Amino acid sequence: MFDFEATEEQKSLADSARRFAKERIMPVAAKCDAESKFPMDVFAAAHELGIVAPTIPAAFGGGGLSDLDLTFITEELAYGCSGITTSINANTLAATPIKLGGSTEQKKKYLGWLTKEPILASYATSEPNAGSDVAGMQCRARKDGNDWVLNGTKCWITNASHASFYVIFATENPELKHKGIGCFIIERAQKGVSVGEHEDKLGQRASDTNTVMLEDVRVPAAQVVAPPGQGFKLAMETFNVTRPDIGALACGVMKRAIDESVAYAKERKTFGVPIGQHQMIQQMLADMAIRYEATRLLVKRAAWGLDKGIRNPDRLLVRQGLRGRQRHANDHRRGPDLRRKRLREGLSRREADARREDFANLRGHEPDPTVGDRAKHVGVKSLHDRRPAWTALTFQRECEFSVRCACPTAVSLPSVPEQVLVVITIKKLQMGATPLSIHVAVDRERALQLPVVQKPQW
Ligand SMILES: Cc1cc2nc3c(=O)[nH]c(=O)nc-3n(C[C@H](O)[C@H](O)[C@H](O)COP(=O)(O)OP(=O)(O)OC[C@H]3O[C@@H](n4cnc5c(N)ncnc54)[C@H](O)[C@@H]3O)c2cc1C
Repeated sequence: MFDFEATEEQKSLADSARRFAKERIMPVAAKCDAESKFPMDVFAAAHELGIVAPTIPAAFGGGGLSDLDLTFITEELAYGCSGITTSINANTLAATPIKLGGSTEQKKKYLGWLTKEPILASYATSEPNAGSDVAGMQCRARKDGNDWVLNGTKCWITNASHASFYVIFATENPELKHKGIGCFIIERAQKGVSVGEHEDKLGQRASDTNTVMLEDVRVPAAQVVAPPGQGFKLAMETFNVTRPDIGALACGVMKRAIDESVAYAKERKTFGVPIGQHQMIQQMLADMAIRYEATRLLVKRAAWGLDKGIRNPDRLLVRQGLRGRQRHANDHRRGPDLRRKRLREGLSRREADARREDFANLRGHEPDPTVGDRAKHVGVKSLHDRRPAWTALTFQRECEFSVRCACPTAVSLPSVPEQVLVVITIKKLQMGATPLSIHVAVDRERALQLPVVQKPQW
């Protein structure tokens, strides 16, 4: 099914957020921006309304909204003020690593705290010399008995001055790069935590951004979300989950810019007419509207992909598009099927031909209603002679039998509620190769007897 229509619930979420932005955010936005001050009373009211970190699961007191739902709220709030919205949404950012990788106790304590009280939290990867290059962080985590001891500085941290707790990424050894990073929860009241001078920024001024200094901060095992070695992946997963919402925030700013520009174009007169009657101004406004619509569609699709468990849908598409344009401009001569496949995987012609044959052989086996009986030995033979292959069987009962899988091609199928989709993923042991996959539908009865493998084994 393909549908561009927001659900009734999403429309009503957007309405509430729009009203909140108009009544509570817009009246104070300019002052907060000028004074570089975050309005805690507005935040408390937003919390009361249930629009702070609303994707926290209901089990921990949250709204249990989807990532797509969240984009409807964020766009409306950002229309009012992107700075205030950044700080409100930083709670979702800080909650996400705990949601993705935390223990049940951590979720109960910290997600529960965020939903129960109007407190702020921070997420901290950035450092003076580690921004885009997250793996370059220097903040140290040293094991001491069962505890970890953290030392270092985190900078550009949203909500740092107000936060009741921080989700901090630190490394056991900077030379290990991404393999040394862990994720820790540190409470503001803990010994050794201090906050630096407020950053006086050019934009987003109503959002508090600050430095967090850690000096021999002792972190008990109960506050370790991911031990060193597992934190980098968690940080990247967190970005995956939270980035569409940053796009939604940008949409709110774009929409506001259009509305302000249209109002000004109607009001300001030159040569005896409102400037909106000049063709060049109309063109500029039309360009703004086009960019807004295109951005909004991209954001919605990315958030939709998240909810469906499709990993990096946009990166995949951009990659396909770029590779397709650069390397395979003449594929139209060889048929649409091959062209699609090559565009998807960025393959050379020879590789694509070999894969097409393999794929055709595999397709002969699907759908196979007896796969349930054989699923325990999912060791599908390598498709590529002499090369070993990884296999994994993944399905989750909790989410209506939809499949989540680390393989982008495998999750490109929609979930089928009446059936269980068992995805057998065959991944070549070749760095950078796009995994090849086959999809097999089995009936629900049989699938219930299958072992549930939560994580692919690679
Ligand atoms: C308002 C605000 C709030 C923030 N809140 C937080 C927060 O809550 N938590 C947190 O951890 N961090 C936060 N940050 C920091 C933010 O994540 C970093 O600013 C960001 O990661 C970029 O890092 P940087 O500023 O060091 O830029 P750099 O990494 O130094 O990049 C400089 C420029 O080089 C480009 N560049 C870098 N690498 C490449 C590459 N490989 N290829 C091409 N171009 C490249 C970048 O796009 C950029 O234009 C915040 C920043 C701001 C401005």
